[in-house]
Amino acid sequence: MSFVADLQAIHEFDSGYSVRAVAWLANTEPYRTGPVPTEFLDLLHQHIEKAWQPILSGGWHECELCKKGFLRQPFCSSSNLFIPSTSVLYFAPVMIEHYIRKHHYQPPQEFIEAVLLSPAQKTPEYFQAIRPFAERWHVLSNGLRE
Ligand SMILES: [Zn+2]
Repeated sequence: MSFVADLQAIHEFDSGYSVRAVAWLANTEPYRTGPVPTEFLDLLHQHIEKAWQPILSGGWHECELCKKGFLRQPFCSSSNLFIPSTSVLYFAPVMIEHYIRKHHYQPPQEFIEAVLLSPAQKTPEYFQAIRPFAERWHVLSNGLRE
């Protein structure tokens, strides 16, 4: 996936409006910077370490922001992160942590709040939180079998 504006609905996966993009940055597009709560960053790291991967990766994401600078080898990752809230499902590259730590990216406040409230990845509570979105997003069905 290439650049998608924060909180834009992703129709590639979802027939409705319930999947929202977060942190699909590109070096050609401005992004918001600023501090984030430490508690959020700690929790985000825990989510990323155990990130549920219901779909095959669309290939490696390379950090375009690093390429712009002096680093010869840009930071790479191929995994994604799903964070449910009560109304939407956020879809971010796991590279979001790198964006925050190295490039001072500041995610939308509603995403920060969703991470603070989300059950841990792959727990029954987590799958229960994702279930409302699965009906509209058939790809999720494999991960939701009981
Ligand atoms: Zn980078």
